[in-house]
Amino acid sequence: MDDCVFCKIVSNDIPSYKVYEDERSLAFLDINPVNIGHTLVIPKEHHADLSDTPPPLLAHLVGVVQKIAPTVAASVNAEGFNLCMNNGQDAGQVIFHAHLHIIPRFPDDGHSLWSGRSIEEEELSKTADAIRKEFLV
Ligand code: AMP
Ligand code: ZN
Repeated sequence: MDDCVFCKIVSNDIPSYKVYEDERSLAFLDINPVNIGHTLVIPKEHHADLSDTPPPLLAHLVGVVQKIAPTVAASVNAEGFNLCMNNGQDAGQVIFHAHLHIIPRFPDDGHSLWSGRSIEEEELSKTADAIRKEFLV
């Protein structure tokens, strides 16, 4: 897509710190990393988000993450990493070209994932019903 930053990275119209590439995917360092080593894995084809990405391509991207994440983490002496994908503006997605974040984590690095809240049983049950009615008989 013409005005997509990540498509421009794929076509080399803007530079990036590439760390992995194959026929269908590319991985490069995030320019504003949460932690050092923060890496983005993208499909070369433009797809906006998770829903828009064909499942075989998505499976390929996850395979790439599985292949490179241990090296990404080891390169910055991290023993763990978060894998995340923001989908939609409300979830913090800024670039609408699907991408997986590999974020190396360190003890006491100051980032918390989320804080759980307590919830009424009834709300859990209602929510589960709303979801499972699409999938379970
Ligand atoms: P998201 O909020 O999931 O859409 O994440 C977009 C990510 O892309 C952010 O973490 C940005 O720091 C990163 N980013 C934006 N432009 C570039 C770029 N030119 N090269 C590398 N990373 C970028
Ligand atoms: Zn794109």
